[in-house]
Amino acid sequence: MRIVLKREEEIFIQTVRKFVKTELEPISAQVEEEDRIPEEIISKMRQLGLFGMSVPEEYGGFGFSVTGQCAVMEEMGRTNACFRTIISTNNGIGVTGLVLAGTPEQKEKYLPKIATGEYITAFALTEPGAGSDAAGIKTSAVRAGDNYVLNGTKQFITNADVASLFSVIAVTDREKKHDGLTMFLVERGTPGFTVGPPEKKMGLRGSHTCELFFDDCRVPAGNVVGGEGKGFRLAMEVLDKGRLIIAASALGAARKLLEMMVEHANQRVAFGKPIGSFQAIQWMIADSAVEIYAMENMIYSAAAEMDEGKKIPHRVAMAKLFATEKACEIADRALQVHGGMGYMKDLPVERFYRDLRLTRIYEGTSEIQRLIIARHCLKKGGEC
Ligand SMILES: Cc1cc2nc3c(=O)[nH]c(=O)nc-3n(C[C@H](O)[C@H](O)[C@H](O)COP(=O)(O)OP(=O)(O)OC[C@H]3O[C@@H](n4cnc5c(N)ncnc54)[C@H](O)[C@@H]3O)c2cc1C
Repeated sequence: MRIVLKREEEIFIQTVRKFVKTELEPISAQVEEEDRIPEEIISKMRQLGLFGMSVPEEYGGFGFSVTGQCAVMEEMGRTNACFRTIISTNNGIGVTGLVLAGTPEQKEKYLPKIATGEYITAFALTEPGAGSDAAGIKTSAVRAGDNYVLNGTKQFITNADVASLFSVIAVTDREKKHDGLTMFLVERGTPGFTVGPPEKKMGLRGSHTCELFFDDCRVPAGNVVGGEGKGFRLAMEVLDKGRLIIAASALGAARKLLEMMVEHANQRVAFGKPIGSFQAIQWMIADSAVEIYAMENMIYSAAAEMDEGKKIPHRVAMAKLFATEKACEIADRALQVHGGMGYMKDLPVERFYRDLRLTRIYEGTSEIQRLIIARHCLKKGGEC
């Protein structure tokens, strides 16, 4: 499909493509081994402006369209997932609440620092007792004069180890359920707020998720984003953008896996022929190509609609569901086409296989995406 980008977005995408190839890909295996992104790479990301893609230009960012951000994340999806995670979490769920609903004072105070990457952001909704059921969170925020006092625990928070600013969703009125949740900006170092050690994960090495603990943590009332009781709806809007960005990253990974599959199918000889001459291998390549083409169309048409200002959570859910499920299938096929080598850590196929698995879980599981799509269809008489 024809993807409409602004000139500066096109130029930036070329820069990112080169950055991925020359700076990130060569250290992918090292990062995997050491479970950390070197500080000099984060500095280079800052210099490129990657942290400020979704920050409006008036606050020093690039103010890229959703389409532009998806195209950048697609490029970053081609290498180790930790690199795109620090950027996509920041530009997606980390900063979007503030951009959409922050007060002018909040924007003045934080967005310029986020644009330069001085402040990295994180988004904290999930808790030990509530993930998919977001309205079931327990972290409370009680008004006390000019402050709110936060108590509770958040779980699995990406970027928590490096973030300076957290968008935290807490309950301000339990009786009101969905309408009783509020978003707060909480700075690292606020008394009563601590970040736990990195949780031990299946993959996504180099990116860390941690618990957050709030123990009588006093947050100024001026740090409420979007108004008291508006947190649930705001969080859902934030997740809409985040989900499309995840889908775009999965598309980049799927493209890279197909390229690897094809290269191996042309080179590897079995029974006196390149394995690409066997129909069983050709079908895996063909199915992957069809799915990638469909992914691209779903993601970029949803992005174009979002850029037109349309609210389309069901289309975003379709794009995330399809792209992440199919990218996992493509990773499985790529592993199969590589045979025993696919299972070895010498090649990145097994890493993609592990890292892509997460895309079906975070920012809403595949089941929750199906729920959103089905609810829309049921309400609109089958419209999709
Ligand atoms: C590495 C990692 C990074 C993460 N980063 C962040 C972050 O930065 N910020 C943040 O807030 N959260 C983050 N999360 C949390 C993530 O969004 C949740 O794990 C996810 O939403 C699922 O919630 P849960 O783990 O509590 O699973 P549960 O909600 O307990 O779900 C368990 C299973 O039940 C299914 N299920 C639940 N309800 C329904 C239903 N109504 N219908 C059908 N099936 C259902 C789910 O699909 C799933 O299969 C992260 C998670 C991981 C693993």
